[in-house]
Amino acid sequence: MQVGAAGLAYRGRTASIGFVHGPFVRVDVDTKDARVAGTLVEEALALRNAIDVASRQIADLAAIAGGEAAQILEFQVALLDDEDFLEAIFAAIGDGDAADVAWRSALDGQIADYDSAEDEYLKARSSDLADLRDRVINILQGGEGQAPRIPGGAVVCADDLPPSRFLEIDWSAGGGLALLRGSPTSHVAMLARARGIPMVVQLGTIPEIGATALLDGEGATLELDPSAEQLRLFEARRESHRKSRASARAILRRPTASWRGERIKLLINIQSVVDLAHADAQYADGIGLMRTEFLLTDRGGLPDEEAQFGAYDAVLRWADRRPVTIRTFDAGGDKPVSGFTRDDEANPFLGVRGLRLCLARPEIFAVQLRALARAAVRGNLKVMFPMVTSADELEAGRKLFADTVQRLQAEGVAAMLPELGIMVEVPAAALAIATFKAAFFSIGSNDLAQYVLACDRSNGALAPLMDPLHPAVLELIARTAEHGRRAGVSVSLCGDMASDPRCLPALLNCGLRELSVNASALAQIKQTIDRLSSGGGLG
Ligand code: PEP
Ligand code: MG
Repeated sequence: MQVGAAGLAYRGRTASIGFVHGPFVRVDVDTKDARVAGTLVEEALALRNAIDVASRQIADLAAIAGGEAAQILEFQVALLDDEDFLEAIFAAIGDGDAADVAWRSALDGQIADYDSAEDEYLKARSSDLADLRDRVINILQGGEGQAPRIPGGAVVCADDLPPSRFLEIDWSAGGGLALLRGSPTSHVAMLARARGIPMVVQLGTIPEIGATALLDGEGATLELDPSAEQLRLFEARRESHRKSRASARAILRRPTASWRGERIKLLINIQSVVDLAHADAQYADGIGLMRTEFLLTDRGGLPDEEAQFGAYDAVLRWADRRPVTIRTFDAGGDKPVSGFTRDDEANPFLGVRGLRLCLARPEIFAVQLRALARAAVRGNLKVMFPMVTSADELEAGRKLFADTVQRLQAEGVAAMLPELGIMVEVPAAALAIATFKAAFFSIGSNDLAQYVLACDRSNGALAPLMDPLHPAVLELIARTAEHGRRAGVSVSLCGDMASDPRCLPALLNCGLRELSVNASALAQIKQTIDRLSSGGGLG
């Protein structure tokens, strides 16, 4: 899209907000000529060596990056250690394939599987695999696999950028990321958000050249070689963003939010420890929802008890005495997990998912319950079950959990049963709320709206109908809040509408006093409550 005499502007999707004006640098991987293959033995040795070198490089990167970034790289290391996976590749070399050909075709197969997934989260995993494929091939072709030199503060542009390449770039002088493809749910997007690096994805085709660029992570635009007028407008947007962030963040530092004299608790939703790196997370009253499906899909398999315990314990340590609500695996529907969810269902959204699936696969559920029971003694942990329809399911889950605690204690392992609550996201649960003996309720308005309105939440064509402010949805929210008030049981809402300032008046009027929002929305929601309290509008 031509927008001015001098500069070209492109629009994509926001992956991480913020503004960058800097040199424009393309970092696409160059394709070298195919290598000359050796004998079968030479090819097998070349691949083994390339895998060892790649493993060492990734381990070094993980050691420097630490934390959640290191966990992301573990996915690649795990694949390089997976002898079953490698066996087939060495067999192909035994059948006469060159090392790079055998490696590429195995990785391309896996990448295609991830790419064809409907779930955007799974799709995004394919860039991790493409990164690994290219790293090993680069080593086989005699490359060093090292990062290109990038000037500080640059707008780095690539087709897609895998996490390991992101971590190799020195972001200490700032800079931003503009991807032609990519996804806001990819690991690299999570890393960019955690480090405050502005990032725009899905920009489409743009020219190879450009000396300077303006990247606007909020408006999701990239402008190349901008005119003076483009630069002036960009700086005005940057300044207004800075001012509104500064005033929202000043409010964030105040201890509590209140509305009509009542305290409003604001907690945050996280998928992993990486989300806690968000600068605003520290101001939350706790974690209102930790989704644990991230653990299932990230490592290419079902995580063992220690890996899970480590993740839960890290969040509890971060929270100190603040409450942390962890939701048990909510796989199925829009979150398929290979080896766990069923792939023979005509309608997975109405299928064996959430708690239904966990109860059907007790051998997998028990591992999570063990990790949670052990974590419960380390902090203020609450656990909730997703997709609960009937009180019997809650009781079946509670029994499994209690048995798990007993077994752990009999083994001499410190463990306890945490407070147990449920997500209210199936209309039947909201309507029959009084039948549940739960310690707390958390309304999942994303699914509640989907089921009440009969609109698949992932179907963009239904977006105008998929309105969480529909009176039928609000009626069920108000009903749940009213039951909680009468029964003295806390009720919060952790669906996306809690992060949307436009929904706030309706949610407060429904009687909710506890909301769990995305960390990036915390300041704005607190500011909106402040405005509503002082009689102002939404601003
Ligand atoms: C919800 O359904 O509102 C919710 C918070 O859970 P998820 O979006 O993970 O289904
Ligand atoms: Mg849900």
